This record gives sequence, structure tokens and C-alpha cells, in this order.
Amino acid sequence: MTIFKEAEFREIVTEREPLARHTWFRLGGPARYFIQPRNEKELASALARCRDNSVPIYVLGGGANLLIPDDGIDGAVVKLAGEFAETAIDEDGTVTAGAGVDMSKLNLRCVREGLAGMECLTGVPGSVGGGVKMNAGGAFGDIGNIIRRVKLMDATGTAFFAEKDDLVFAYRSTNINAKFILQATFDLTPDDPEEILKKVKEIWFFKKNSQPLNAKSAGCVFKNPRQLSAGALIDQAGLKGTEVGGAQVSEKHANFIIARLGAKSADVLKLIELVRQRVFERFGVQLELELEVW
Ligand SMILES: Cc1cc2nc3c(=O)[nH]c(=O)nc-3n(C[C@H](O)[C@H](O)[C@H](O)COP(=O)(O)OP(=O)(O)OC[C@H]3O[C@@H](n4cnc5c(N)ncnc54)[C@H](O)[C@@H]3O)c2cc1C
Repeated sequence: MTIFKEAEFREIVTEREPLARHTWFRLGGPARYFIQPRNEKELASALARCRDNSVPIYVLGGGANLLIPDDGIDGAVVKLAGEFAETAIDEDGTVTAGAGVDMSKLNLRCVREGLAGMECLTGVPGSVGGGVKMNAGGAFGDIGNIIRRVKLMDATGTAFFAEKDDLVFAYRSTNINAKFILQATFDLTPDDPEEILKKVKEIWFFKKNSQPLNAKSAGCVFKNPRQLSAGALIDQAGLKGTEVGGAQVSEKHANFIIARLGAKSADVLKLIELVRQRVFERFGVQLELELEVW
């Protein structure tokens, strides 16, 4: 029985939505409720309804860092849409993007506007919300370095701002504990669009040559430990190309697991455990997940 009977929810809630179509792995079963609120009011009402019915809430961005179980999610999966997928650029070049904005598109828009700083996110798929939550980035810089302010919403539906000084960004993590990131404002620097584009292209070619960008994956599966990169440890353990069912350790980048035709989330999970075990046996290093498993 649905808890979203009223007209106000009809346009934004679907039931038994297959989540595979919302993740970069293209894996995972259905969500009991899939909610796409278009503004804060709709989000707050949907949250209240879930809370009143003890339905757990999961926040989905672009699904580029997620593995969802084959039997799906017995809860409400919320993907911010409508106003949350809009960007505003002020006359002084201040960029404010909704959490649902696609990071790659925002990056290219900033190039066109002659605003530098976001090019470090070239080749990092996903949404602004997921990018902030994960402090996405890498060798070329992290999103945390260019954040001025974020708008957040707690689980009770109350929205508030957090400023740069309140925020801590670390390796693939932040101190943001609010349930929802609603929007982010960036500190970017005016520059020649040609120069920014040159950097974007350099980073893109570097990634294209070192990562399996045409395969279904969720980027790096493990965080890099202090000693050596996770990819180097997995490679040196002789695991490149190792398969479980339809999941395979990429031949191109050992920290990527790719999902081939017929793969199941369960295959990816088994392969993750196998890699962890072998790396521990060989090097005594416990690999920690960067990938989020729901
Ligand atoms: C080919 C490929 C290459 C990649 N390369 C990189 C890379 O170089 N560097 C890097 O850092 N990552 C990389 N990734 C991983 C991924 O792109 C990043 O982690 C990205 O930030 C995930 O964003 P998302 O919107 O897809 O988040 P999702 O995967 O949807 O979610 C990730 C986490 O963020 C939370 N979340 C999402 N939106 C919100 C929100 N609005 N409010 C609160 N929480 C939210 C989710 O609940 C979850 O905990 C790569 C992935 C792929 C597929």
C-alpha cells in the first residue's frame, strides 16, 4: 500500500523504480519509492511522509559512486530534480548550482563563462550534491577547494546554510552530516576560456588513457591507503583482469571494477571481498571502500 496517495505526490513519486537505470554500474534492483522533488517544499513534504511512516530515506545523486543490491531498496530513494537541477551565475561570476546539477555540464558551462577552478572535476561524473558529499576530485584538485557556501536540509525538513569556515573537506569526505545538500556556491576565478579549456582537455586525455571510461563502473572502488595507491597494490597482487561472474577488475586501472553484460551487484561484492583478502594476504593492508554500497 502506498503512503503517497495524494495528488501533490503523484507527479514526483514512482513505485518499484529500477535503480539500475540511475547508476553508472547499471546494476541494482528497484526502489520501493522513487521520489524526485522539484523544490524544497516538495522535498520537505516527502520527508515528513516518510518519517511518519518510518520509511528509510536514501539520497541519490548521479549514481556514479554507488552499488545498489540486486534485490533493491526497501525504502524511499530521493533524487533532487526541478529547481535543484538549475544553475545561476551572477554578474560578478558567482556560480550557485543546485545539488542535482550534472557536474560535467557545470564544468563545461564554467569554461564557456571564463570561470576557472572547476576543471579539476573533469572526468568525474555525478551531481553537484554527490560531488560535495564525496569531496570529489583527485590529483588535479578537489571540489572542497572551490566551495564558498552550501545550502543543506536536515532530516526534519529544515533548510540552512553552512559557510566555507564551517566546512571541513578531507580525502573523499566532508563534515557535512545534514541529510541533504541542496545547493553549492563556488569561488571561481575569471580566466581566458581557451586556457581553461586547454586544462580540461589535458585532464580529460590523462583520464581517458588511464581509466576504463567506456565501461560500466563506479570509478575507484577503494580509497588509496598511505603506503601506495590502491590500484598499484591490486595490480602488484596480480589481480588485474580477475573475474567473478560478470564483474571484472579492469585491465586498464586496477582500482576500477567493471560490470560486463549479465553482471549482478552480488558479483561486484564478491569481487570486492576477493580483492580485499588478496591484498591483505600479500601486503597486510586493509583496503577501505570509496564506493558506497547500499
Ligand atoms: C568513470 C568514473 C570515474 C570517476 N572518477 C572519479 C574521480 O576522479 N574522482 C572522484 O572523486 N570520484 C570519481 N568517481 C566517483 C564519482 O564520480 C564521485 O564520487 C561523484 O562525486 C559521485 O557523485 P554522484 O552524484 O554520482 O553521487 P552518488 O553516487 O549518487 O552518491 C554518492 C554519495 O553522495 C550522497 N549524495 C548524493 N547526492 C546528495 C545530496 N544532494 N545530498 C546529500 N548526499 C548526497 C549519496 O547518498 C552517497 O552517499 C568516478 C566515477 C566513475 C563512474
